[in-house]
Amino acid sequence: MAEKDPEFYIQGVLNNNRRIIAKTITLIESSLSKDKNKSFEIVKKILPYSGNSIRIGITGIPGVGKSTFIENLGLYLCNIGHKVAVLAVDPTSRKSGGSILGDKTRMEKLSLCDNTFIRPSPAGKTLGGVAAKTREAMLVCEAAGYDVILVETVGVGQSETRVSTMVDFFLALLIAGAGDELQGIKKGLLEIADAIAINKADNDNVEKAEKAKKVYEMALHLVAPGASSWIPPVLTCSSILENGTENVWNAVLKHNKLTKKTGEFDQKRKEQAVEWMWNLVDDGLKKKFLETDIVQKKIPEISNNVKQGLISPSAAAEKLLSFF
Ligand code: GDP
Repeated sequence: MAEKDPEFYIQGVLNNNRRIIAKTITLIESSLSKDKNKSFEIVKKILPYSGNSIRIGITGIPGVGKSTFIENLGLYLCNIGHKVAVLAVDPTSRKSGGSILGDKTRMEKLSLCDNTFIRPSPAGKTLGGVAAKTREAMLVCEAAGYDVILVETVGVGQSETRVSTMVDFFLALLIAGAGDELQGIKKGLLEIADAIAINKADNDNVEKAEKAKKVYEMALHLVAPGASSWIPPVLTCSSILENGTENVWNAVLKHNKLTKKTGEFDQKRKEQAVEWMWNLVDDGLKKKFLETDIVQKKIPEISNNVKQGLISPSAAAEKLLSFF
């Protein structure tokens, strides 16, 4: 079968051929219009085979221990019979292709495991683009039979929110600070986290981690409870202690069982699919808008007028939109 045929990719994915899975994701990441049609076709055909997984988003600042945690969790899951895909959303990768998540040689032990597929962050121009491609890569991995998808993000800009809208369970990895826990935490993170794990709770850090746990528990109480029946737990974990990742996995399983029972699991996935459609519409509209000749011509002048205070931002936006 010719390599150019969408069927080549579809069959390769369904047969869990990791080389072809990687090629398929590369095709999906391509912005060439000839590749776009092909990838639409592929995604459409694999869609019925996707969905059968637990999707977990993991966020945390650089150095919090994400790679180590994911490697341990991945190895643990492979040992108990799961197939694990690791994907990354790294908004920094748009700068010169160099990224916080993608460049390091990471997760060496996990990458040697037969039941895993690891993919670094796509090099997109916008966070929307990067995240959209990650979402489709997730569907490809599911169609290939991966039943746990771990989506890693450093949480720069809006990436956490974007990732939280594509997963079933969103985990915030934090480390204990010097008692000023809530100072450094990003606004909104507590609202979207399904669990908080205070990482590196080992050696001299155990006591600090326990203290931090109490602070976060209190903070979570103050966050207005959503309609969800799930109460996000605050856990402590350590990648160098043996039971570190298991605690987190148990929380994921508990959440999965509860939300499937209440119907929230399916409901959330349905809402996410619609929300995703609108995200893509937003991205597409902005792209089309910026590609319009007259808009391109007028932008420098109108932005300059806004800078000089000659026109208000809202009047300027209205004017630009009127050209579209
Ligand atoms: P990332 O940037 O969030 O992916 O963080 P890494 O996984 O690369 O870890 C950053 C540093 O923290 C490395 O030196 C790790 O060895 C160390 N580290 C990771 N997990 C733990 C842990 O559970 N306990 C301790 N003490 N150190 C850890």
